[in-house]
Amino acid sequence: MIACPCEVCASPDLRDKRFRCSALLENGNSRVLIDCGPDVRQQLLQTGIDDLDAVVITHEHNDHIIGLDDLRPFIFKRKAAFPIYAEPRVQEEIKRRFAYAFAKNPYPGAPKFELIDLNIGEEIKIGSLPPIIPLRVMHGSLPIAGFRVSSTAYLTDVKHVPDESKAALQGLDTLVTSLLHHHEHHSHMNEKESVAFAKEVNAKQTKFIHMSHLAGFHESIEERLPPNMRLGYDGHVIEVK
Ligand SMILES: [Zn+2]
Ligand SMILES: [Zn+2]
Ligand SMILES: [Zn+2]
Repeated sequence: MIACPCEVCASPDLRDKRFRCSALLENGNSRVLIDCGPDVRQQLLQTGIDDLDAVVITHEHNDHIIGLDDLRPFIFKRKAAFPIYAEPRVQEEIKRRFAYAFAKNPYPGAPKFELIDLNIGEEIKIGSLPPIIPLRVMHGSLPIAGFRVSSTAYLTDVKHVPDESKAALQGLDTLVTSLLHHHEHHSHMNEKESVAFAKEVNAKQTKFIHMSHLAGFHESIEERLPPNMRLGYDGHVIEVK
């Protein structure tokens, strides 16, 4: 965190340098980004990818959408409006925050976005990727989207998971889900809640994401987690079936 003197922010362990969360799904030449936060430019530069097919958005908070403008190189390369899958409420927020991109006569260099409805439970099919299934999760009082793709699920900013979504999380190889820190929070699960949720889902492995610096050191959190639960970190690659 900017201007924070805490020992986690000063840690030499690269896994304690936490950019805002995004995930890149890749199969062959098909690539979809889940969320697009303020660090997305550095994150995408590090992947070295030269094309992207679409973005799917979990919710409208800045740390999940404010990097959309930085996708310009992909947009210009494709010479077509860039597909963004988001729920209607989230689309309205994207239009507000990137008003210049949706103006009647946009500046010629403005990015072109194509907003596509994301409906809970309705499969999104992109290129050679397996269907992406949006699931409902609750971010405090805000209903947001999580995703199941084949035997992997990606849920972030979770406080509560409705039963029908839990039912859709059975038989997972990999659960990716958020863990903020160990304090009580109105819209995020804390460490205890995230571990209990992961135990309930019972995926073969769980990767926690979206940790705050208040969560502590990567290494010390992992020491107290069950062996099949680990922390994700920037640049972490997970091979899935
Ligand atoms: Zn700090
Ligand atoms: Zn959020
Ligand atoms: Zn967030």
